[in-house]
Amino acid sequence: MGKEKIILTGDRPTGRLHIGHFVGSLKRRVELQNSGLYDKIFIFIADAQALTDNIDNPEKVRQNVIEVALDYLACGLDPAKSTIFIQSQIPELCELTFYYMDLVTVSRLQRNPTVKTEIQMRNFETSIPVGFFTYPISQAADITAFKATTVPVGEDQKPMLEQTNEIVRRFNHIYGETLAEPEILLPDNAACLRLPGTDGKAKMSKSLGNCIYLSDSADDIKKRVMSMYTDPGHIRVEDPGKLEGNTVFTYLDAFCRPEHFERYLPDYPNLSELKAHYQRGGLGDMKVKKFLNAIMQEELEPIRNRRKEFEKDIPAIYHMLQEGCLKARETAAATLDEVRKAMKINYFDDIELIEEQAKRFASNK
Ligand code: ATP
Ligand code: MG
Repeated sequence: MGKEKIILTGDRPTGRLHIGHFVGSLKRRVELQNSGLYDKIFIFIADAQALTDNIDNPEKVRQNVIEVALDYLACGLDPAKSTIFIQSQIPELCELTFYYMDLVTVSRLQRNPTVKTEIQMRNFETSIPVGFFTYPISQAADITAFKATTVPVGEDQKPMLEQTNEIVRRFNHIYGETLAEPEILLPDNAACLRLPGTDGKAKMSKSLGNCIYLSDSADDIKKRVMSMYTDPGHIRVEDPGKLEGNTVFTYLDAFCRPEHFERYLPDYPNLSELKAHYQRGGLGDMKVKKFLNAIMQEELEPIRNRRKEFEKDIPAIYHMLQEGCLKARETAAATLDEVRKAMKINYFDDIELIEEQAKRFASNK
């Protein structure tokens, strides 16, 4: 029998989920869930991590737990196949984090490029909360507690996976083979690795307000698409346009499929022809945006409708989450037992230790 294949991934409850989450991780998770190729799937809402940079806004985190859970179900995550849980309800994760902290240096944390960018984004330079600074270690605890082998995430999570693997190697080297090294699973489509925000400035991120949310109304989606950043040099229709940094084309790279042309833009056979025309000049932004809007509406409407159905029974969703927490906790507790044993802090169930010491002290008399 081969090694178990286990997926773990999650999202911070700092807002509703957006199309960056969808293409970066969520869509893939649902496909993997339905592929039947995985033995266990754990999906969690990272409320404790969200508190590390929202400590004075617990209500925001609390309210967004249900929003994220609704987005999960709307996208097709199925509690019968995936264990969905809330991070803070698994105290074993804190204990693992505490032990892993000894395996990582301050300078190693300081070199984490994602954390560096996030510190700047949040204007934390002079007052970085220790919990925020150390969240890559807590992420290593999340991943290893479930012995995850596969972590489907966006590119911004690469440094977290590297940090996790370093901790696993160090732990196993010092204490013996205990933890599993996870593999990152990035989107195959380059545009989905780090989908930019509608302003074209940074990655789409709940904290930056440059998002198209999965639950946005048809009108909101249209407004967002129509005001999206393109090529500032492309003023008149006949001007040649640039594709680099042109968010509308990045989104087309992420979402457009051949059948969309048949349905919404039959004058063009495919995306390369559309791009070529834009670069030559003679193709206006408005036409491209209308095409993108049609695609986004088609993609998001079923998700929005399914969400509305789930919104009708909120207590059932909390019940589902509670069940998920119970199940997740069992797994995390089993790993923690192994960790404690490896680290020699399992005093009371180590009968040999007690007997050996009893003998030693007796012979000392
Ligand atoms: P916050 O601003 O609170 O950090 P966020 O929008 O960055 O929120 P996270 O909860 O941090 O979202 O990320 C959840 C998952 O979604 C991660 O796997 C992350 O890599 C992925 N992800 C987030 N934003 C994007 C994006 N713009 N493109 C691709 N993947 C993304
Ligand atoms: Mg983030």
